[in-house]
Amino acid sequence: MAGLQPPRGTHDLIGETMRRHRHVVETASRVLETYGFEEWSTPVFEDTRVFSRTLGETSDVVSKEMYTFEDRGGESITLRPENTASICRALVTNGLTQTLPQKVFYHGPMFRYERPQKGRYRQFHQIGAELLGAEGPLRDAEVIAMAQDILTALGLADDVALELNTLGDLASRQAWREALVAYFRQHEDALSEESRIRLDANPLRILDSKSEQDRRLLDEAPAFADYLNDDSRRFWDELRNFLTAFGVTFRENPRIVRGLDYYSHTAFEFVTTKLGAQGTVLAGGRYEGLVEQMGGPAVPAIGWAAGIERLALLVDHVPDVPAGIGIVPMGTEATLAAASVARRLRNSGFRAEIETRGNVKKRMERVVKSGASHVVVLGEDELARDVVQLRDLQTREQKDVALSALVEALGGA
Ligand code: ATP
Ligand code: MG
Repeated sequence: MAGLQPPRGTHDLIGETMRRHRHVVETASRVLETYGFEEWSTPVFEDTRVFSRTLGETSDVVSKEMYTFEDRGGESITLRPENTASICRALVTNGLTQTLPQKVFYHGPMFRYERPQKGRYRQFHQIGAELLGAEGPLRDAEVIAMAQDILTALGLADDVALELNTLGDLASRQAWREALVAYFRQHEDALSEESRIRLDANPLRILDSKSEQDRRLLDEAPAFADYLNDDSRRFWDELRNFLTAFGVTFRENPRIVRGLDYYSHTAFEFVTTKLGAQGTVLAGGRYEGLVEQMGGPAVPAIGWAAGIERLALLVDHVPDVPAGIGIVPMGTEATLAAASVARRLRNSGFRAEIETRGNVKKRMERVVKSGASHVVVLGEDELARDVVQLRDLQTREQKDVALSALVEALGGA
C-alpha cells in the first residue's frame, strides 16, 4: 500500500481548504433560505438514463466526461456529473409535480472525466438552485438576483460580472438554427475539425467554441436577435427590466448558450478574470423539457449551478474558527474534574480542550498556541474550595471563579 495517491483530478479537503469550502456552502445556504429555497439531497449515483436522456447524447458531458459503470447486478450506473437532472427525477419520483412551485437547492460532489487543471477537477463540488414551476421572467430575474446576492455575501461583487443572453423559444431557435447551419455549411472549410463534427450533431455548440479559427467565423454569423419572435422578445425585455428592478447589473453576451434543446429564453454566467481559463464561477438558465423527460408533466424551470472550488479560490476572507477554552488540570483528581468542566463548557457551546501532557508550563504553552481566549486551571487547592482559576489570555487578568459560575463568567448562558 506504499505511496498511494488520490485518483487524478481529486483532492482531499483539509484545514484552510475545507474551511473555505464550508464558508462558501454556509454563506450560500443562508442567502438561499432567505429566498425560500429548501435543501434536497439526491444520491451521488443514478441510473445512467437520468443523464444520458436529459443532457443529450451529443453533449460534452455525456459523450466524454461521464463516469459510467455496470454494477454487480448488471445495472448501468453513472456518478452524477451535475445535479439538475437528479432533482427533476426526484420531483417526479417523490410525486411532487402537482405541488409547484418547488424551490430547491443542493450541494455536493459531482464527477466528470476531464483534464485536470487549476479550477477543473474530476471530483468537484457544486452548489445550485432550481425553481421548478417557474412562470415568467420575474422568476428568472429573482433566481439571478439570488445568485448575485450570494456572490456579494461572499465578498465577490467586484470580482465577477454577469453575462446574459436569451435563447428565445423553440420556434425562434429553430428559425435561427436553420440560418446558422446554412451559414456554417457555406464556410465548412474554415471551421475547426471539432466544429465540423458539431455541425451535424449539435450546431449551437459551435457558438461556444474556444478555437480562434471558429471565433473569426462567428463574428459574421447570423445574429439570434434577428430571429426572436414577439413572445420571445417580450420575455427578454421583461427579464432585463426585472433585473434592473432587483438592482442587478449585466452585460449582454450572445455567446452564452447552454447547447441543449430544452433550454429556452434565459441563459447566464457569472464570470471572473481572476481564474485564468476557468473563468465561469456560476452558470444557469431556463429549461422546459427536463421534468417531462423524467416521465412527469411539462414543468418550466430556472436554475443555476456554481463551482464551489472556484468560489473558494476567489474568496479572500474566511472567518476564523472561534477561540476556545483551554483546561489545564494538575493531578489525578483534577483531571477527573476537568472532564466534567469540559463537558459543561461544550454543552454551553464553547470549544474546550483538556491539556494533560507535560508540566504546567508546557500545558500553558499549548493552550496559548491553540489560540484559546481563556485558560481554566484546575489544581488540588482550587478543587478543595470548589473553584477554578480563570485566566483571560488577552488581558492576562486572573481570578478564582466558583465552578458553578464558570460558564457565566465566560459570558455564556
Ligand atoms: P466549462 O465550460 O468550464 O467546462 P461547464 O459548462 O461544463 O463549464 P456547468 O456544467 O455549467 O459547467 O457547471 C457549472 C459550474 O460548475 C461551472 O461554471 C464551474 O464553476 C463548475 N464546474 C464545472 N465543471 C467543473 C470541474 N470539472 N471542476 C471544477 N468546477 C467545475
Ligand atoms: Mg465542462
